[in-house]
Amino acid sequence: MAKKITAKKAATKKLATKSKSTKAKSKKVKSTSIPAYPPHTILSTGLTGKCPRCAQGALFQSFMKPVKRCGACGLDMTFAEEGDGPAVFAIFILGFVIVGLALYVEFTFRPPFWVHILLWVPITTAMSTFALKIIKGVMIAAQYKTDAKQGVWDGNKNTK
Ligand SMILES: [Zn+2]
Repeated sequence: MAKKITAKKAATKKLATKSKSTKAKSKKVKSTSIPAYPPHTILSTGLTGKCPRCAQGALFQSFMKPVKRCGACGLDMTFAEEGDGPAVFAIFILGFVIVGLALYVEFTFRPPFWVHILLWVPITTAMSTFALKIIKGVMIAAQYKTDAKQGVWDGNKNTK
């Protein structure tokens, strides 16, 4: 009985070392097959709408839609999953700026109400479109750099 158990233990040990060695092998292959890219900052690639890895290929295929694969280095962009992130940042930043400006105009010049409508509707629309694209680029670059992913439920591993 005891012999059987030790045999089993040895087998699992062997398996573990085997998987470890294959892991190391695959790591080696990975590092040699991918050419080295100079490091780029999140802001430098995000603000210019360039690929977060090579900073050469375009990040967007249309105004706001990210490309599926970088045209320059072939980076698979399916990881880009920024969700509602850009909208939240745009709302917080622009809300602060535009409300501040509207209050300044109101209390400095006391204009009639239609002036506010003529002023802030186009300004808000233009600035939010512009901000959304920039923030989206920065968030995708940050996601690439930090390897951030959607949280996945892995069962009750932590409960005892
Ligand atoms: Zn690229």
